[in-house]
Amino acid sequence: MPDPAPRSRELFDRAEAVTPGGVNSPVRAFHSVGGTPRFMVRGQGAYLWDADGNRFVDLVSSWGPMINGHAHPDVVEAVRAAATEGLSFGTPATGEIDLAQEIIDRVEPVEHVRLVNSGTEATMTSIRLARAFTGRSKVVKFSGCYHGHVDSLLAGAGSGVATLGLPSTPGVTESQAGDTIVVDYNDLEAVRRVFDEHGSDIACVITEAAAGNMGAVAPAEGFNAALREITRSAGALLIMDEVMTGFRVSRSGWYGIDGVAGDLYTFGKVMSGGLPAAAFGGRADVMDLLAPRGPVYQAGTLAGNPVAVAAGLANLRAADDGVYAALDRNATRLGELLGEALDAQGVPHRVSFAGNMLSVFFTEEPVWDFAGARSQQTWRFPPFFHELLSRGVYPPPSAFECFFVNAAMDEEAFEAIAEALPHAARAAAAARPEESK
Ligand SMILES: *Cc1c(COP(=O)(O)O)cnc(C)c1O
Repeated sequence: MPDPAPRSRELFDRAEAVTPGGVNSPVRAFHSVGGTPRFMVRGQGAYLWDADGNRFVDLVSSWGPMINGHAHPDVVEAVRAAATEGLSFGTPATGEIDLAQEIIDRVEPVEHVRLVNSGTEATMTSIRLARAFTGRSKVVKFSGCYHGHVDSLLAGAGSGVATLGLPSTPGVTESQAGDTIVVDYNDLEAVRRVFDEHGSDIACVITEAAAGNMGAVAPAEGFNAALREITRSAGALLIMDEVMTGFRVSRSGWYGIDGVAGDLYTFGKVMSGGLPAAAFGGRADVMDLLAPRGPVYQAGTLAGNPVAVAAGLANLRAADDGVYAALDRNATRLGELLGEALDAQGVPHRVSFAGNMLSVFFTEEPVWDFAGARSQQTWRFPPFFHELLSRGVYPPPSAFECFFVNAAMDEEAFEAIAEALPHAARAAAAARPEESK
């Protein structure tokens, strides 16, 4: 078979010569699936095009942000209009108020918002704020949940860290990780034990409102509500990380699904419109500890950048009820197609949903936590992935990441998926553990 991506190969060689691993975020390098990462040159609606002219139905949607599809005309026009007026002022600007207001209007427990540049910054500062508010040091997080590459949160992290199998990571000192307590996801008994032992030292629990960085693992019935109760009675804060779920799984994120109020929230991805923007927010009495009103320092030269803010605001405003209905519908349909194709080939699997985020676990057991996610037959994933890729479908390049649908997916996109999936399922069925690395 001729190489379908000679141009990407050439570009990747060049990239590896100037950038560690050739990428600016590890999962893009295809390490867990092998092969050459595709360099994308264009995105439009439900599709991406690589440097060799191959077209793909995009099932990653830039890891979440592109809920309206690529290059949505409203978002592009908002960016053009904002850029025309100037790229950055280093002063307050109107759009920042509008974006903060949009977030506050959508997520009821959020009273005040601060804009930052990445989800990592949002979680990092939320932890700082929780420690300052409570005067305590310890942070409880869940194994397999990923909250960005914050030093203290790179213990038992999911996403790229899970894919690479790093214990946590070199470069994080014991003292940085020493105040982090890692507990299994969905294990309330373990949370209660930790609070029995360390309750008066715990500043906060941080959780993905629904886990998406070990694959899609929804919180068990009552799990988030119990976290709310446990933290409240112990005088600790609950940080709902909605960087992935926020404004994707409903117009109010996961909060719109289970209604459990966190004290602090972190956002990114969808609210960025695809440009670098993120936010954290929550209770006014906690948020107002931030400088300049309060003593907790946090800042950003490009925070609230007018172009990024315009993109995020346009992305949210374009996401009306019809878009959320389409996301849910498209996720259900994709899940059905995945299930049917794998069933037909007798491949052990679970299609796992957290709202309209979904993933495939190659196991017959239900997955509730990271140990469950890791017990799957990951060696089935690379051949499954490559069959889809070679047939014009772009799935997430790791067995531990979600598929992200968008509202631009049309009949043609689903036909391409339906045609590619039986081949991918056959490859998954034929896979053998010794072939994997
Ligand atoms: C993506 C993600 C982050 C990190 O956001 P970045 O913008 O990549 O720094 C944090 N938390 C969750 C739940 C995420 O999915």
